[in-house]
Amino acid sequence: MSQKNKFETDAIRTQLERSQFQEHSNPLFLTSSFVFEDAEEMRAAFAEEKERNVYSRFTNPNTSEFVQKICALEGAEDGYAFASGMGAIFSSFAALLNADDHILSARAIFGSTHSLFTKFFPKWKIETTYFDASDIDQLDALVRPTTKVLYVESPTNPGLQVLDLDILGQFAKKHNLIFVVDNCFATPYLQQPIAFGADLVIHSATKLIDGQGRVLGGVTVGRADLIREIYLFSRNTGPSLSPFNAWVLSKSLETLAVRVDKHCDNAEEVVKFLEQHPTVNEVRYPFSKKHPQYQIAKKQMKRGGNIIAFEVKGGLEGGQRFLNNIKLCSLSSNLGDTRTIVTQPASTTHSKLSPEERAAVQITDGLIRISVGLEAVDDVIKDLNQALNQS
Ligand SMILES: *Cc1c(COP(=O)(O)O)cnc(C)c1O
Repeated sequence: MSQKNKFETDAIRTQLERSQFQEHSNPLFLTSSFVFEDAEEMRAAFAEEKERNVYSRFTNPNTSEFVQKICALEGAEDGYAFASGMGAIFSSFAALLNADDHILSARAIFGSTHSLFTKFFPKWKIETTYFDASDIDQLDALVRPTTKVLYVESPTNPGLQVLDLDILGQFAKKHNLIFVVDNCFATPYLQQPIAFGADLVIHSATKLIDGQGRVLGGVTVGRADLIREIYLFSRNTGPSLSPFNAWVLSKSLETLAVRVDKHCDNAEEVVKFLEQHPTVNEVRYPFSKKHPQYQIAKKQMKRGGNIIAFEVKGGLEGGQRFLNNIKLCSLSSNLGDTRTIVTQPASTTHSKLSPEERAAVQITDGLIRISVGLEAVDDVIKDLNQALNQS
């Protein structure tokens, strides 16, 4: 199911067959199961001789539509949708890995994924080795005979490092590893990892794909043989996406391109503002010329995205003063919403890490992450400015 039309067209026009009612916009199929005409049809469905819906824990028209769209946008063969991004990450690994398998993962990854790798997978004898983005040329030494997966996010959360997907894709191929990319920050509109050799791409659809802070969802797309394993595991274990959330997310995809472009327009303005503000030390944004991996970002991303990280000079306390003086923007840990969101990772999402562990993933005490929304950017900048002046 590769991309046939241009991105925006596939995001809007990939749809289910119309029902007898000839609806223009796809309807919502709130049904837990599906009926059969006769015993033979039922037998054939359970023998998987014919593709059709049986039970919504397996597939449902709304989840299938959502998956088809993501496949078209990512250039993927097949996919499966989950109740959340973490549902997608856990189920994909659980389906593909066995006891004694080894994961090679970038160190800067989403907090719950880190917990999965360090607290839960060891229960099933699955070990993870972390590498730093700067060690990308020395990865060969970390590969074991049991290494099965190479896992990365790019850009990373919240440090906004950019990893070279092309180099990693070649490395994975050389060592016969399954290359998995969490593409949540970029969305398929800005970055399509399969073109750089990814075998699987995972999204938390909760973020920019929904884009309006309403529903949770996740999806894994990529190589059909791997998706088949993931599907068989998932239809028996029950992490599937609800039809309602799938319906919401499919509608959201229709506006993904225009929304993300506007998010990027606004983020670029905020970056310009932050770079000249006297109480700001450092601004990290993949498409800022000062970003250490600017050239890599340019090579693999269409634009820089809507997440910015910057450091206030006042450290942990300066960051707290900044948050306490914010009036318009939201203090929340979510991202990719229409509303601009600010958070201080060192005192919230990453407070359980030691200062050394935080430093290893570029999280300083005064680091603030902004998810730039779709408000009039002048109002956002006005709010940030008055809060920064008091930090
Ligand atoms: C939010 C997020 C996840 C987890 O997604 P949920 O939908 O919250 O389960 C995974 N990876 C990244 C990069 C995220 O930002």
